[in-house]
Parts: sequence; structure tokens; C-alpha cells
Amino acid sequence: MTDEYRIKKLRTFAKRYARANRLVHSQSLDVVAKELGFAHWKTLIGASKTDWSPSDDELSKIEAFIGKSFHTKRENENGVILDPIDDMNQTEETKIGEYSFRISNFLGDAVVYGEGWTVRIPEAPLAAPLVEIDKRYAETSPVKESKFLKQVIDIAQAYSQQIRARMSMDWSRRSTKPDANGKVRHPFGGSVFDKWYCWECDGEITGQQIAQNLWHCPSCGANPLHIRSEPYVSDDSKTHPVEIPEQGERLEPIVLLVDSRLKLELNEENISMLIRCALLEEAANTNERLGAMLAQISLIDNEVVYITFDEDLWPEDKEPIQALAVAELLGLEVEQEISLFTAPFAWPELGELTSSTHEYTKMLLDAYSEHGVISR
Ligand SMILES: [Zn+2]
Repeated sequence: MTDEYRIKKLRTFAKRYARANRLVHSQSLDVVAKELGFAHWKTLIGASKTDWSPSDDELSKIEAFIGKSFHTKRENENGVILDPIDDMNQTEETKIGEYSFRISNFLGDAVVYGEGWTVRIPEAPLAAPLVEIDKRYAETSPVKESKFLKQVIDIAQAYSQQIRARMSMDWSRRSTKPDANGKVRHPFGGSVFDKWYCWECDGEITGQQIAQNLWHCPSCGANPLHIRSEPYVSDDSKTHPVEIPEQGERLEPIVLLVDSRLKLELNEENISMLIRCALLEEAANTNERLGAMLAQISLIDNEVVYITFDEDLWPEDKEPIQALAVAELLGLEVEQEISLFTAPFAWPELGELTSSTHEYTKMLLDAYSEHGVISR
């Protein structure tokens, strides 16, 4: 396995982790890097450029850390290979009175979908159920009736228990049942400890508490991947013991009115993106494409789009016809300016000679080799 391939594998693991934890990719890359003893992903990449590369053991460690709980396949009674998360993802239609709804497993949460409402029971055993009512159904939604809501929550809780039971089937017995000294093993492997730490909120959790809460932080609800045997902060005084409510029950449901219609946000960022996309569409050569990418686009008073082009990259006499058409659709005027930016590459005239980026790059490499230097 080449070093490059090993880093690529780490990236793949991080992508999987991001998906399962609803994180952005860069955050999950940092989690992977930290797991291997680096401060950030950037530091890891820096080390990989000198002489470091993840060993087979380290790759297995990350795979176990990230992959195990989400990607252990099992076979059902009909010989079909199922993913432990996805195999419960079928939705079943249920009815209470005249109201029908579906229930399904969304990444460990039990979610009930009715007409204009959802009820979500988070995977963390003590977290509050979340009830969302579409504003358009604010007056008529059946979940406004506490009796109906309680029935739905009871059904969803039962389903949530099945989800969690299924997830913990892969765990060792010592993960859910502390030994005589209160020590438990992390569901994804390792030694047994009587004290655990949440890397999200610095909570200090006893073995009994973490097992009871199925490896979610009782304080902030962080999932098992964030529960470690060492505190995140080196200074012990920054951690704080967590408490589990005496009754050990879920918090009261949180009810929110939401506007679930898809909304087109015509803010500066989105308008700039559409205008830039139109500029790219009509770029005739590499220079103009660079010009479209680097143009400064701003929205003034929600009425006028200002486009400032680099005079080296976008021809002064070229009308951005597509961009003007897009602005007209959006009811916006366009003001154009030409200015001198710091061009990204020397010899801007080269970019007028081709529309192939490959060819342009070759010309740049040749020109810099002959008349300058190339640095990495
Ligand atoms: Zn926590």
C-alpha cells in the first residue's frame, strides 16, 4: 500500500464518520488526526509529507474506531446481508384514530413522520423528544393534543429501544454491565475503566452512568465516539462530574413550530454564486474562467449587483450576457467595473491562448521553468 493510498484511506474513514455523526468533513478529519495523536488534520498532512505514514495497525485502529459501530454487516434469516443501521430503515405505516404516520430509523434516532409534523426520539436515552409542527398545520396538527402526542411518543420510544438494542448487540457484555468495581469497556473495544470522559462537554462519567446511558454523555448527549477513557483537557480540574436525573427518564418533549417549506435565500452569497456561475458559463478561454472565479461580486441594498473584474483576466469590452440575464431574472441591476488585481500567475496573456486548463498549466510550467522558479 502506498503512503498516498494510506492517507486516502484515512480520508475515507473520516467521510464515513462525518456522515454518521452529521459533521462537516473537516471536523471529522480532525477527529481522525486526534485519534492518531496529531493536533489537527493539517498537522497530520504536514507529518505525512516528511516521513510519517499510518501503519497497518493505525489504519485498523481508525477503522475499528469509526467503522465498527456503523458498518458491521450481518445476515438476516433469508441470507440477506444487512447493515446494522440501515436494516431498520424500512418505514411502517401506523395509525392512531384517523391520523396515519410512518416511523423510521434516521441514524439511530427514531423519527415519526405525520402530515405536517415529526416527532424525533434521539438516540441518547435521556435526551428530550423533539416535536416539530409545520406552521401551515399549526392550528390543526393532532400532535397539539397531549393525549395523541403521548401515544406517538410511546410508540416511538419503543421503536427507539429496538434501534438501541440492535446497535448494542455488537457490544461486549462488559459495555452494558459494569463489573463489581464499576468498570466498563467501551463498546468499540479497549480496556475497562470505572471513569470516562466526554470530549464534547468535559463531563466526568462513572462506569455505571455511561453503561446506563448506553454510552451517550448524560450531560450533553454526545454519542459513544466522543466518550473516552482520558479527558480531552489535560488539566483534571476542568472536567466536571455529570449527573443522571433520579428518575432516569427522558426530558419533557420540546415542541417547535417550523416552516418546513424549501426556501430560496436570495442573499449576497447565493446571488454571487449564481452570477459567478453565469460568468463561468460564458468564459471563452482559461483567462476568462479565472476572471470569473476571481471577480469580486457584491450586492448593494438588495438592488444592485456590483461585479469587479480583473483587467488582466476579463476583457474590458466583453459584456457578461448570461450574468446580466440572471440578474434581470432576480430583479437586480448590474454595475460593472474593471480593476487591476494581483494576478495569480505571471504572463496573463498565456491564458488567452487556450481554453484547456491542462494546456495552460503546461504553458505555465514551461514559462516558469525557463524564466522563473517553481515552488511547492
Ligand atoms: Zn458531554
